[in-house]
Amino acid sequence: MRAVLSIGSNMDDRYTLLQGVLEEFKDETVAVSSIYATPPWGVEDQDEFLNAILVVDVDCTPIELLRRGQKLENDADRVRTRKWGPRTLDVDIVQVRDGGHELLSDDPELTLPHPWAWQRAFVLIPWLEIEPEAVLHGSTVAALVENLDPTDIEGVTKVRES
Ligand code: ADP
Ligand code: MG
Repeated sequence: MRAVLSIGSNMDDRYTLLQGVLEEFKDETVAVSSIYATPPWGVEDQDEFLNAILVVDVDCTPIELLRRGQKLENDADRVRTRKWGPRTLDVDIVQVRDGGHELLSDDPELTLPHPWAWQRAFVLIPWLEIEPEAVLHGSTVAALVENLDPTDIEGVTKVRES
C-alpha cells in the first residue's frame, strides 16, 4: 500500500530527528519533499516546526505503519505535555491508498485520511512539491493549496532542498 506521511519536529535537533524517519523508510520511499519551517499551529508560544512529507510504499497494514511511526516517536524521547504543544517528533499518516483506492477509517486510533490534513499549510505545501495531483478530501493538493489563507502559505518556507 502507498502512504503519505507528515513528519514534524520542533524540539532538540530537529533535522536529525526528521533524518531518522527518512532513514527508517529509505528502502520504501517513493518521494520525499524538501524540509519546510512552519510556525506552530494551535499553541503559538513555542518554537517553529520543521515539517516534511514522505510518500512510502510499504508491505504492511495501516496499523503496523502507525506503530512504526510511534516507535520512531518514542525513540526520539518525545515528551507530550499539552495538546499541540512542543514535540521532538510527530509522525502522522495523512492518507493511505491501496490498489488505486483510498482507505477510509473513522477509528480514533487511526483516522484516515488524517482529519485536518486537507486544511493545513504545513502538510499541503510540502505535499504539493511532490504530488500536486494527489486527491484529498475531493480536491487535488494543488487546489487545496490555492484555497489556503495567503498568510498561512507565507508562513511555510523551504529551508532545505530534498
Ligand atoms: P497529533 O494529533 O498532534 O499528531 P499525537 O501525535 O499525539 O497528536 O496523536 C494522537 C493520537 O492520534 C495517536 O494516539 C494516534 O493513535 C491517533 N491518530 C489517529 N489518526 C491518526 C493518523 N492518521 N496518523 C497518526 N496518528 C493518528
Ligand atoms: Mg501525531
